[in-house]
Amino acid sequence: MKIKVGFGFDVHQIKEGYPFIVGGVQLEHHAGAFGHSDADVLVHAVCDAILGAANLEDIGYHFPNTDMRWKGISSLLLLKECMGLIQAKGYQLGNIDAMLCLEAPKIKPYIPQMKIKLAEVTGLDIDDISIKATTNETMGFIGRQEGVVAYAVCLIERV
Ligand SMILES: [Zn+2]
Repeated sequence: MKIKVGFGFDVHQIKEGYPFIVGGVQLEHHAGAFGHSDADVLVHAVCDAILGAANLEDIGYHFPNTDMRWKGISSLLLLKECMGLIQAKGYQLGNIDAMLCLEAPKIKPYIPQMKIKLAEVTGLDIDDISIKATTNETMGFIGRQEGVVAYAVCLIERV
């Protein structure tokens, strides 16, 4: 069986008064991520990992931020599109391992809900979705709560 690995990274600015949607879940916070679609940093990193594994360019190639179709939409829809793209190329998703890097709020209580959201869209078992979180120890733009970063890897298998 042919297996391939993919890697994704994303970053968004954090701005006062914006909704903070991560992994398809809205966090309770005074500020949120700013960007195209719903600025879901975790889902964007996962999309890039999935596309990368199948050598299908990146999220900006398929869903350009100049395209008004993608303005303000749920990034879970983009993830669904990515699943279709790898399936069309003969692959299925094996697992996801993702890492969030942000100072606040605490992510742990939201992780089970995020896993459910990702499982619904990808068809993966919950046990094949790992979401971890760390702070940046108050250093740099993440430490100053000016931005949020996510990394993700995934594995795909040829069907
Ligand atoms: Zn993004």
